[in-house]
Amino acid sequence: MKTAVLLIASCFFLLFVLTTFVPFPGAIQEAHAAGFDSSDIANGLQLTFERRFFFWGATLLELGLLCFLALTGWSRRWADRFLAWPHLGRIYAVLAIGLVYLALHEVLFVPLGVARWYHARAWGMSNLDLADWFRERYLAYGINLIGEVIVVVGFYALLILLPRVWWLIAPLGLSALGIAYAFLAPIWINPLFNTFTPLEETQWRHQQPRVQDLIDKAKVPVQEILVMNASRQSNHTNAYFTGFGPTRRIVLYDTLLKNHTDAEIESILGHELGHWQLDHINKGILLGTLAALLGCFVLDRCLLAAIGRAPWHLHSIADPAGLPLVMLLIFLGSWITMPVTNAVTRYFERQADTASLELAGQTEAFIAAELKLAKVNKSNVAPAPWNVWLFSSHPPTVERIRMAREWKP
Ligand SMILES: [Zn+2]
Repeated sequence: MKTAVLLIASCFFLLFVLTTFVPFPGAIQEAHAAGFDSSDIANGLQLTFERRFFFWGATLLELGLLCFLALTGWSRRWADRFLAWPHLGRIYAVLAIGLVYLALHEVLFVPLGVARWYHARAWGMSNLDLADWFRERYLAYGINLIGEVIVVVGFYALLILLPRVWWLIAPLGLSALGIAYAFLAPIWINPLFNTFTPLEETQWRHQQPRVQDLIDKAKVPVQEILVMNASRQSNHTNAYFTGFGPTRRIVLYDTLLKNHTDAEIESILGHELGHWQLDHINKGILLGTLAALLGCFVLDRCLLAAIGRAPWHLHSIADPAGLPLVMLLIFLGSWITMPVTNAVTRYFERQADTASLELAGQTEAFIAAELKLAKVNKSNVAPAPWNVWLFSSHPPTVERIRMAREWKP
């Protein structure tokens, strides 16, 4: 066990050093060539460097907590204690262990979260005061808690009722939950944090005819283009495509509309319509289901191997004492698959960029929008290739600009 922990810790330490301290000068030259000046490049690099410490601090805390709970025999002792209570079935014992984990997690992560908030304020990247930050945090916490209880209860009910084939059924259940979340998030969850106003009811309503032309060209059944009051939280600019079936919609940040020209907005909207045209939400859910199938199969093998073996001494795969081990394996699995997941999303993003150029047909506006987005968001425009490979869900700005320059209608 000690060897396994040492091996995991060394891998994470090497990744921390590689992704935080090893420079890649070639990327800086490319950023200059793409049109960024030295201060944009230096700002983005510095902000990313500082944020890495929060990111790796959070990773260290999470990994430390999960290793402590999963590998020290702690979960066996606590599960036995909960199971000894009269009338407390396995499902309740699992929920009790989950609550202990959440309480410990909160004690460790609140100070880190507050430090992150201070840091964002210092960089001018947050418009929230501390009270609002706490309010949003606990609102999100409550929503996540509902989701987590559904997942944990569903998962252990499957392990108890169908111990041989649970791993074949769980991925379908997860996709059903994913679809339900995608359907409900835009109508129930997102409005708890921001207001969403139809574009034609905002001060940017003059954009509507151009937007409608673009939608007609894309031939997608867009019901709603909404403007979100993102400036409440920060000056970050963005647009996204969300929802499932009848709740599908495109959301534009008010910060985006304030900062960009009409042609640039058209180019950004073209990108979101591209995701829609190419059915990226459904493809993402399908790929996620296949990945979950593989993940659940591996999890099943690991739980079987932990039966009767120290430090878990599981009585069966549905033993509540296995919950921290399940969480540790999911954490490590998500790290192992992160490069693949990000490669897929970068592929989707490149496709949406091409769709935007084909729809809006304005290379110069596309490039101008990319330059402006990166500057306003203080993005790192000179990332090292290994950081892109590991962490980036989107292609680097420089690559997107190069792609637009090389694009031929
Ligand atoms: Zn996109």
